[in-house]
Amino acid sequence: MTNTDFTLAIEDLTVSFDGFKAVDDLTLYLDKDELRVVIGPNGAGKTTVLDLICGKTKSTHGSIKFRNEELTTLAEHEIVQAGVGRKFQTPSIYENLTVYENLEISFPSGRGVFGSIAFKCTDEVDKRIREIAGEIFLDTFLDMEAALLSHGQKQWLEIGMLLIQDPELLMLDEPVAGMSVKERDQTAELLKRICKGRSVLVIEHDMAFVEKIADKVTVLHQGKILAEGDMQTVQNDPSVIEVYLGH
Ligand code: ADP
Ligand code: MG
Repeated sequence: MTNTDFTLAIEDLTVSFDGFKAVDDLTLYLDKDELRVVIGPNGAGKTTVLDLICGKTKSTHGSIKFRNEELTTLAEHEIVQAGVGRKFQTPSIYENLTVYENLEISFPSGRGVFGSIAFKCTDEVDKRIREIAGEIFLDTFLDMEAALLSHGQKQWLEIGMLLIQDPELLMLDEPVAGMSVKERDQTAELLKRICKGRSVLVIEHDMAFVEKIADKVTVLHQGKILAEGDMQTVQNDPSVIEVYLGH
């Protein structure tokens, strides 16, 4: 396999903040249909990796290729248009709009461009909104003001707002933080479902949750990959055990 076969090919990626390397010579490949989980102690550089992929932070060195297109030279909105969706740790939804309206304004009006609030609601859009609402367990909450949703439901809504744009790479930063046990289980099921036909990159702390969803886990420590493999391999790796016991 050459690196052009991957949805995402990160090679020798480094970012240095005043001499401190938050991400240090990282190489990581992501396949289509793959759900990868990145774990690691606080400050390992996990969020920074997502910041680099979505263009929020510019790399010092290295390459990020998405479907063989170099992302490091693109602006944030161009990266979204290329098909990369990213969910931040805190949900950014429109609290005073309904679930339906939140999904409606996220529907792409042109190729990858956000629709406006005045967007004309065609049957096609309506159908898609209802489909997505079902996927994110909110089909009976369409008319509810987003502010009234539980914290977990808000997280799902934001995932739905990304899904409606049908990104080929979806990145989620600690999606189950603050969720109830039941919501976590539902989210695990949701993530396993939505990685079909795309690549999903999840950052997570909750090991029980990681165990449920991960095909392959990458352990990041001090900006470098400490271990990579299935959950069991990674959990039994002495260097991983040392880092986690050390915290
Ligand atoms: P994680 O998500 O794994 O907890 P982060 O990626 O948020 O870790 O942070 C990794 C390290 O990089 C931390 O030491 C953090 O303080 C530092 N860092 C992240 N972003 C910046 C920035 N924009 N400027 C300076 N330092 C940063
Ligand atoms: Mg983080």
